[in-house]
Amino acid sequence: MADKQRSLVLIKPDAVRREIAGTIISVYEDNGLKIVAMKMMKLDREFAEEHYAEHKGKSFFENLIRTITSSELIAMVLEGEDAIERIRALNGKSDPAKAAEGTIRNRFALNGTENSVHASDCPVSAEREIAHWFPELK
Ligand code: ADP
Ligand code: MG
Repeated sequence: MADKQRSLVLIKPDAVRREIAGTIISVYEDNGLKIVAMKMMKLDREFAEEHYAEHKGKSFFENLIRTITSSELIAMVLEGEDAIERIRALNGKSDPAKAAEGTIRNRFALNGTENSVHASDCPVSAEREIAHWFPELK
């Protein structure tokens, strides 16, 4: 049996504003992923820059920070077997033009930046991100 993993997942402000958070959460639950923590937050710039530190200096960074801090988002920790890879497959590629048919970003993303969801990209990132977003979770 494959290992149980945890991933940070964000429902970004563009999706919360359009009231499709529930639809997106259902995609994860319908695929056997369990919510183990959840909260709503409006990020300040410092918190957002730390989350996206790996992208600092890139051309899209300012736009990314501006949009992720624009209004409330929903942060969750999801758990399941092979959760990290499975969630990223459900989300689809970051650029909605390249995201496979039926993926969350194919269905809902507005553009390459406001692409509705975030998920951890590997176990090391997941550990770092979960500690950043949910320090209360042990
Ligand atoms: P992912 O969210 O799929 O892990 P990345 O880590 O590469 O993607 O990028 C983080 C976020 O930065 C993306 O989800 C998207 O919001 C934004 N982004 C990445 N690349 C671009 C780009 N070329 N143009 C505009 N925004 C981008
Ligand atoms: Mg990423």
